[in-house]
Amino acid sequence: MTCAREIAFALALTTISIPAVAAERPPQFIAIAFDNCTELSRWKELSEFVARLNEKGVTVRFTFFVSGINYLANEKRALYQGPYERRGYSNINFGGSPEEIAERVKYINEMHAAGHEIASHAVGHLDGKHWSSADWAQEFKSYNQLVDHVAENNGLPEDVKFSFPASDIKGFRAPYLSTSPGLYPALKQAGFRYDTSGTMPPDRWPEKKDGLWRFDLAELRLARSRKATLSMDYNFFIAQSLGLDSSARRERDRDEMLETYLAYFKANYSGNRAPIHIGHHFTNYHGGVYNEALLAFAERVCGLPEVKCETYSKLADFMDGLSTETLAAYQKGDFPHAPQPVILPDRPAAGLR
Ligand SMILES: [Zn+2]
Repeated sequence: MTCAREIAFALALTTISIPAVAAERPPQFIAIAFDNCTELSRWKELSEFVARLNEKGVTVRFTFFVSGINYLANEKRALYQGPYERRGYSNINFGGSPEEIAERVKYINEMHAAGHEIASHAVGHLDGKHWSSADWAQEFKSYNQLVDHVAENNGLPEDVKFSFPASDIKGFRAPYLSTSPGLYPALKQAGFRYDTSGTMPPDRWPEKKDGLWRFDLAELRLARSRKATLSMDYNFFIAQSLGLDSSARRERDRDEMLETYLAYFKANYSGNRAPIHIGHHFTNYHGGVYNEALLAFAERVCGLPEVKCETYSKLADFMDGLSTETLAAYQKGDFPHAPQPVILPDRPAAGLR
């Protein structure tokens, strides 16, 4: 070995043996999800939104927690029976006409093919807080039956079908975020990878419990009033307006949501990079202002460096690849932090679109 090579070798050893930090900086995951997912107009609007961002080179992938009633026409409702309910009963509307079911299947297949994730919000939007594991298992079985037999259940032509089997559905959010101890063994038994029914502080990295990743919604403070809310549209609506739609408040509530989400994003992006969790509904609460704010948020942040607006399955893949030590380092923020991102236009007053 020449002298120069010896020196180079020694330098390389020095570099390896004294790491400056415990971990490399992780990407900033942003998981945006929707619950229920009934309205065909919203499927259309969201697929157009992601196509528009795609044209600008920005990738956004959503997770859809679809209620199983969306796969069953009103006239076929008797095919479903939820735990402790009469046959044909659901807390939210069934899927409409058979033609509407067929159209919904088409949107779902298109979104699935584009890399978005279809996940489960159970079938009848029932409150499972007193359910046993067997009750949850019954509901999951009904869900799978509705996915795998959508044509025959609704009297539709055979070629109306999902492009994936029910067994590919790996994610769950409980209706009303209402869980029971029996839920988790039932989820595990049914082959789920993750649950999104809990809540936690915004700077917490996900934990795996009972073999399931817990991707919990964030406990946030509203940007202006500092009232407590969850990172979910319905909870903003209650916190801001007690669930009452008033046109006089719409703009203000929309801008406050956008500011709240941007503050959540900035704190995590320049902090410990804990994944961001946002849960909305297809229902246009409060004249649709929350969905305007959400899309404005996605448009501002999803194309920024080191940001991944991705599905929960992609986040679960990332989490599965981390060692215990690396995850602990992330939680502590033990890596070189990023400076505050520049987001333009930063002020909602500059216009949402
Ligand atoms: Zn729901």
